[in-house]
Amino acid sequence: MKAVTWHGKRDVRVDEVPDPILKEPTDVIVRVTSSGICGSDLHLYEVMGPFIDEGDILGHEPMGVVEEVGAQVTAVKPGDRVVVPFNISCGSCFMCGQGLQSQCETTQVREQGTGAALFGYTKLYGQVPGGQAEYLRVPFGNTLPIKVPEGPPDDRFVYLSDVLPTAWQAVEYADVKEGGSLVVLGLGPIGDMACRVARQMGVANVIGIDLVPERMARARQRGVTVMNVRDSHLVDHVKDLTDGRGPDAVIDAVGMEAHGAPVAKLAHQAVGLLPDAIAARFMKTAGVDRLHALRLAIDLVRRGGTISVVGVYGGMADPMPMLTLFDKQVQLRMGQANVWRWVPEILPLLTDGDPLGTEDFATHHLPLEQAPHGYEIFQQKRDNAVKVLLTP
Ligand code: NAD
Ligand code: ZN
Ligand code: ZN
Repeated sequence: MKAVTWHGKRDVRVDEVPDPILKEPTDVIVRVTSSGICGSDLHLYEVMGPFIDEGDILGHEPMGVVEEVGAQVTAVKPGDRVVVPFNISCGSCFMCGQGLQSQCETTQVREQGTGAALFGYTKLYGQVPGGQAEYLRVPFGNTLPIKVPEGPPDDRFVYLSDVLPTAWQAVEYADVKEGGSLVVLGLGPIGDMACRVARQMGVANVIGIDLVPERMARARQRGVTVMNVRDSHLVDHVKDLTDGRGPDAVIDAVGMEAHGAPVAKLAHQAVGLLPDAIAARFMKTAGVDRLHALRLAIDLVRRGGTISVVGVYGGMADPMPMLTLFDKQVQLRMGQANVWRWVPEILPLLTDGDPLGTEDFATHHLPLEQAPHGYEIFQQKRDNAVKVLLTP
C-alpha cells in the first residue's frame, strides 16, 4: 500500500510499504478514506527528528471503512464506517475508567515515561504505524474505533479523531462560567475549532489571537473578536474588552513552536540570572513575552483565572515565571485530549446539523500522493492552508 513516511526534517514522502495485517484477535484493519495533517505533525516535520526512524508512517487523524476484523471483534464488522482516535486506549483500565484515555495504563509507553501510545507519533509514543496511509491496523477493535453513520461526507466526522475532542477538552478545561470571557491564542485548526466550540457552549466573549491574516479573517467570520499578537498594546486591548481585568480563561493553542519562541527562549535564558521581578519587567518592556504563547497567556489571564494549555510543549528549557503564576493564583490545566471522554457529547452536533461548520472546515483535500505538498503549504501557511485532509 501507499503511506506517508518520514525521511528527515521537512522531508516526508509517499512510499510503497507492506499492508498491515491482523496481529491480535481484537485488531481491526481499516481502509482509510480521509486522514488529516495536524499541527502536531508539524513538530515531527520540523523539530522531533531525534525520536523518529526513517520510514516511520505518519498520521493520527484517520477515518475509513472496516476492511477486516479479528476473531474476537464483535463491536464492528467489515463495511462499518469508523473514525479512529489519535491516542490508543484500551477502554478498560483504571485511567480509561476515569475518562483519562490519554493516560491509558495498558498502552502507556513505560520505557519512555510517556502516556498512551499514539498512531504515527515516534518512538516516544510507541512507534505505531500511522493513518496517513491506505490501510491502518487498529488495536482494541471492540472499544477504540468510533462508529459513525452513513450519509454525510467524511468531513463531518473526521475531526472526531483529534481536532474536535482536543478543542472540546480545551474549552472544558478553561471552565468559563456563563457570561464569562475567553481568549484563544493561535487560530490554527485547534484554536479555530476551540473558538467555535466555546461559542457553541455559550461563551459570549471569545477573543482569538494570531498573526496570519487569513486565519484571523476566518475566525472573525464566525463572530470571534480577533487581535494580532504583534499589537504592541495587546494586553491593554484585551483588558479593555474584559472589564479591565483580563479574561477568565486563556487557551494556548499554539505550543512550543510559537512564532518568535526561540528569540523569547534565548532572552529568557539571558535574563535568567536576574531576580524575577526585574527580569519580568525587562521582558515585558522588550515585548519578548508576547512571542512565547504560554507567557502571553500568563500575562493576559485575569487574577484567579485558568490557563488551558492544548498546544504541545516539550523539553526543560522553559523556565516559568513562578512568582507571577503564584501571585495571580492561576489554574493551569493541560494535556492530550482524552478523545473517547468527549465523543458522546460531540457526536450529536455532527449528526443533527452541522453547527460547528465541519463540512467547510478543511481548506484543502489532496490525494495521498500530494502529502508532501500538503505538509509544505500547511507549515508555511501558504495558499490559505488551515486544514489539509488527505484522501487515499
Ligand atoms: P497550527 O500550527 O496550524 O496552529 C498554531 C497557530 O498559532 C498558527 O495559526 C500560528 O500562526 C499561531 N501562532 C504562532 N505563534 C503565535 C503567537 N506567538 N501568538 C499567537 N498565535 C501564534 O497547528 P494546530 O493544528 O492548530 O495545533 C496547535 C497546537 O495544538 C500544536 O502545538 C499541536 O501540536 C497541538 N495539539 C494538541 C493536541 C492535544 O491533544 N493536546 C491535539 C492536537 C494538536
Ligand atoms: Zn492531530
Ligand atoms: Zn486503558
